[in-house]
Amino acid sequence: MKLEEIIKPLLSWYEENKRDLPWRREPTPYHVWVSEIMLQQTRVEAVKGYYERFLTALPQIEDLAACPENKLLKLWEGLGYYNRVKNMQKAAKEIVLKYGGELPADYEEILELPGIGSYTAGAISSIAYGLKKPAVDGNVLRVLSRITENGEDILKQSVKRRVEQELEAVMPADRPGAFNQSLMELGAVVCIPNGMAKCQVCPVQHLCSARAHGTVLEYPKKAAKKQRRIEEKTVLLIQNGQEYAVCRRPDKGLLAGLYEFPNMDGWLTEEEVIRAVEALKLMPLHIKNAGEAKHIFSHVEWHMKGYVVRVASTEKRAGNLLFIDKKESKGKYPIPSAFSAYRKYIEEDE
Ligand code: SF4
Repeated sequence: MKLEEIIKPLLSWYEENKRDLPWRREPTPYHVWVSEIMLQQTRVEAVKGYYERFLTALPQIEDLAACPENKLLKLWEGLGYYNRVKNMQKAAKEIVLKYGGELPADYEEILELPGIGSYTAGAISSIAYGLKKPAVDGNVLRVLSRITENGEDILKQSVKRRVEQELEAVMPADRPGAFNQSLMELGAVVCIPNGMAKCQVCPVQHLCSARAHGTVLEYPKKAAKKQRRIEEKTVLLIQNGQEYAVCRRPDKGLLAGLYEFPNMDGWLTEEEVIRAVEALKLMPLHIKNAGEAKHIFSHVEWHMKGYVVRVASTEKRAGNLLFIDKKESKGKYPIPSAFSAYRKYIEEDE
């Protein structure tokens, strides 16, 4: 089978079956960029709402460049992986300075911008500018490894680069964007992961080696991932009347610059929590168990235990604790979704 044989059936299938997605309606370079960054690590259905909200608040690249960080992180709240949006803002500033607020119509220049890898650069170049550049992500690698029964490890950069070169050589110069999207779409709705591939409705089933040999479940091949590190934490929902405590995370590292509920390493007992609260120069009045929660990041898992602690007065508090009013703070302090299990305790009415 020659790779170019997949082009025609894929394009006709895509024309007839493509999903109506908000970012496909007006695929400007900025729209493609925002959607592709959001879609990394997040499902299409979940992205739709965020996408509309983000573009309503920041309709142009200039708006993104000028947006205050708190507002930006708030717009991203719930999507996770906040470095993505911070890099978008860095890139937006560069685009305003160097390119007058328009993403350049040049693959290499796009690729040099912060937070943009070959996949996103390829998507913007091909979909928005009609340039003959591939957009290869895990979905596309999965599809192609099955069609060609290629057993190389798709997590290797060298494998990705080879696939990019092979696709670039054969992709149609007149419809590069539609071709890339047809492959992405196939990976998203037909040639889906694990044992779920819907080969019977696949437009390239007659060309697919894995389908012919009954080996679909064996592809793609991936080297085993390293186990995530587990961190135990105790999360404190410290309340004083209508106010609750947050602190700002450091400017560098995981969830940098976001606000969080005060927390400590390890699982503390009620007595230890009381002592920890006293060490913050607060007077605990009442403590209540807020249950356990888990949050999974790419390399680390937080296993959390929470406590609601009511305190008497916050005037002499120590450290970088900030007490904010439940009502006034709405929308102002971005708290990462890692803590979402505990948000209800500070949102519930007195
Ligand atoms: S035939 Fe099945 S395994 Fe092959 S590309 Fe289509 S969906 Fe994927």
